Amino acid sequence: MDWRTKLLNPTPRARRDYASLATPVYRGSTVVFEDQSSVKDSWDQADNGYSYGLYGTPTALELAARLSDIEGAHRTLIVPGGQAAIALVYFAYCTAGSHALVPHSAYGPNKEMAEGILRGLGIEVEAYDPLIGESIRTLIRDNTALIWCESPGSVTMEIQDVPAIADAAHARGVAVALDNTYAAGVMFDAFAHGVDVSMQALTKYVGGHSDLLLGSVSARDGAAFEKLGPVYRQLGLAVSPDDCSLALRGLQTLPVRLAHLEASTLQVAHSLADRSEIEAVFHPALPTCPGHATWQRDFSGSTSVFSILFKESVTPAQVENFIEALELFHIGLSWGGVHSLAVVYPRLERPGKDYSGRLVRLNIGLEQPDDLIVDLARAFAAIG
Ligand SMILES: *Cc1c(COP(=O)(O)O)cnc(C)c1O
Repeated sequence: MDWRTKLLNPTPRARRDYASLATPVYRGSTVVFEDQSSVKDSWDQADNGYSYGLYGTPTALELAARLSDIEGAHRTLIVPGGQAAIALVYFAYCTAGSHALVPHSAYGPNKEMAEGILRGLGIEVEAYDPLIGESIRTLIRDNTALIWCESPGSVTMEIQDVPAIADAAHARGVAVALDNTYAAGVMFDAFAHGVDVSMQALTKYVGGHSDLLLGSVSARDGAAFEKLGPVYRQLGLAVSPDDCSLALRGLQTLPVRLAHLEASTLQVAHSLADRSEIEAVFHPALPTCPGHATWQRDFSGSTSVFSILFKESVTPAQVENFIEALELFHIGLSWGGVHSLAVVYPRLERPGKDYSGRLVRLNIGLEQPDDLIVDLARAFAAIG
């Protein structure tokens, strides 16, 4: 054999029994088959065997299986980000003429997709009060195909009565999807509370270090998985094995990080509750958070993100001074990593409420909370 041909047809030399504790990074688009009769082309490789890298390498499938285990799902699909996970759920459940319900407090790009791509395709997405509970039944129509929950809500942190919404939905044969990113898929048991499809941005707590973008979509049962799979395939939601490898590493320290973040975040949130500049602290474990009693009933803990609402007497310019006086808190979007973050929302309206320029979302990182509290006190002093 010519040496050039030999480079492409090597005899593998390294022993194959390297028992690392870490899952290898499997790169690969093509997988080869033993013979023509064993060629297959299935998006469901966990059940049917490997067919093509687009539907996950072993690194991605290992991550999916571990998430399924801790969430109590039937199966999980790994996708390029949390927003891709949201898109997959919409397209799996909604077609032209469908009606869907999404809380006012949902993640911004979820609502943007509702008003943008989905509306263009003839799918009507209606916003509802996140605290509606079982009264959601009055909004369900014959063509309602999907009800989204997100609890707590993005930025305004409303805790939803997911079991009541799921009961009302299931009475009419409607599927319930949950954005379970805040709870990292574990602090709220989606399937025990009646959810059919639970997604999360692995970008946040599973990744945990602000260095990857991934999402997951977990199905309660085979029926939900069969609805998601073909759309997952048609949208071509391939993920990088390197990112999956980082997420697998992140999973190993998730419990330690979450425990530490919960304690630090509570300490910081409590330190802000009595400040004269603050109207309310929206942290699920504080009674000032809308839906706090539901959080006590349904969640096993809280995590690292919460919001503070300045009093109306504090001007938007003063809130900006506050943000810019912070030294340990970086100004940035996203959350769930090791660094503390702060960001103000210049335009933030909810029905009957205008929080524009007054609401600051904080993400607490792994810095010592006493240092963060000193930093915040310095920023309050800088308000003027
Ligand atoms: C960040 C986030 C997403 C989107 O995740 P990406 O990985 O950034 O696409 C979705 N939902 C919630 C609640 C989020 O906070």
